[in-house]
Amino acid sequence: MKLICIGRNYTKHIEELKNEKPTDPVVFLKPDTAILLKKQPFFIPDFSDDVHHEVEILVKINKVGKHIDRKFAHKYYDEIGLGIDFTARDLQSQLKEKGLPWEKAKAFDGAAVVGKWLPKTNFKNVDNIQFKLLKNNVVVQDGNTNLMLWKIDELIEYVSKYFTLKIGDIIFTGTPAGVGKVVANDKLNGYIENIELFSITVK
Ligand code: ZN
Repeated sequence: MKLICIGRNYTKHIEELKNEKPTDPVVFLKPDTAILLKKQPFFIPDFSDDVHHEVEILVKINKVGKHIDRKFAHKYYDEIGLGIDFTARDLQSQLKEKGLPWEKAKAFDGAAVVGKWLPKTNFKNVDNIQFKLLKNNVVVQDGNTNLMLWKIDELIEYVSKYFTLKIGDIIFTGTPAGVGKVVANDKLNGYIENIELFSITVK
């Protein structure tokens, strides 16, 4: 399976990193080895001094598809989750400056937190889901899918032009504003509305 990640999907996050607003979604992949194993702490890798949390809504693909029209995209997922796209920001900045791919900064082991899943039927509207990340019990990121530049069904249409989607693939839909550095002993808790979907310790 693969993790398909979207960058720059929330205006305020684009502004906080002083990035240009894209005309198309920014897409990158993480391998399945990036998934942080259940109940394991996140270890800050030795090649970075500035790993950031990016909390993101996740979508789990339940059907094989290619060139999926946005009208039919809702048939390709029935679970919604929450995760973290950990990013070695210092390394990513160096790579971006040189125009190189970001994988070393985003696809390393443990860089993808995948929390518990909720049935899509829990939500009246997937384009209006409130979510947040707490660091040491303080809210640091607070988002709603209604602020996405590209909504879930549009993202499925877009990424499936390039990649065949397979059962179990996960789409990371981009992070809202409030990304920041993690340090050893931080505790990260992710919520969709009032349901806790993950609890991670940083080491
Ligand atoms: Zn991200």
